[in-house]
Amino acid sequence: MVKIIDGKKISSDTLDAVALEVEQLKAKGVEPCLAVIIVGDDPASRVYVNNKKRSCERVGIKSLEFALPATTTQDELIELIDKLNADPTVNGILCQLPVPKHIDETAVLCRISPEKDVDAFHPQNVGHIMIGDFTLLPCTPAGVMTMLHHENIDISGKNCVVIGRSNIVGKPMAMLLLKENATVTVCHSKTQNLAEITRQADILVVAIGRAKFVTADMVKEGAVVIDVGMDRDENGKLCGDVDFEQVSEKAGSITPVPGGVGPMTIATLMQNTLTAAKAQNKIL
Ligand code: NAP
Repeated sequence: MVKIIDGKKISSDTLDAVALEVEQLKAKGVEPCLAVIIVGDDPASRVYVNNKKRSCERVGIKSLEFALPATTTQDELIELIDKLNADPTVNGILCQLPVPKHIDETAVLCRISPEKDVDAFHPQNVGHIMIGDFTLLPCTPAGVMTMLHHENIDISGKNCVVIGRSNIVGKPMAMLLLKENATVTVCHSKTQNLAEITRQADILVVAIGRAKFVTADMVKEGAVVIDVGMDRDENGKLCGDVDFEQVSEKAGSITPVPGGVGPMTIATLMQNTLTAAKAQNKIL
């Protein structure tokens, strides 16, 4: 019988643990604070930002929102980031992506001080992940690792296949699995004989952005299947990159969409903000 990995429950436990530590930190006179910047009025970004604010409230982290008009120039945005970098009461800064087309996303992400970079997108933090010595981790892959640990899934020596090589999910995911001694294969749109490779996976992580792309014939019997995708099916209903109905007949454990990786991403953001606040205040 397949085990459904309950991301809502694991994220709720993670948030409870963060809330407890935030309380202890406040008793020492430190109030963790996350600044969220949103440029323009993309409705999906608005939903993400609201969810982040709600999670901050839940764990007792102070949140500041900077909602800037779509006409904001890159210089104006950089000026705000510089101000937040210099503000000792702000521990974490994130700029909700995507930013409007006239703004250079890389320039913005590189401007956020690495110590306050709670999305861990700054090249310095990316480098830390590469050498396996990190403080802040990108939220989605780190959330996946929390799930695997929570479920006591053996990683060391296992064949792990990651489909997707984006900077925010696929690549760091591969690095985190490698750090825990998995044998990792990264696949992408140019990979040949994809199903042959995915059928070797003890742990299959899928992050491509194509609804129900992974079918049962691509999965090994009893495999752990982690679905990062957030897509819409033919009826406009939220679904993942994995055909859940089919694949759950074959997998040993699987994450659902919704209620799988999604909630873990935001819980990890709260963990990162707490970690940043502790590091900046030299509290171990
Ligand atoms: P992305 O930047 O668009 O990257 C997609 C990756 O999938 C690319 O590496 C691409 O290969 C690969 N790919 C596309 N079609 C493929 C195919 N037919 N066969 C094999 N590989 C293929 O996407 P992303 O930002 O990583 O996001 C991936 C999915 O995760 C999306 O659905 C996104 O919404 C979701 N997501 C969810 C969360 C969460 O919190 N749950 C967070 C982030 C993202 P190439 O490099 O060759 O183009």
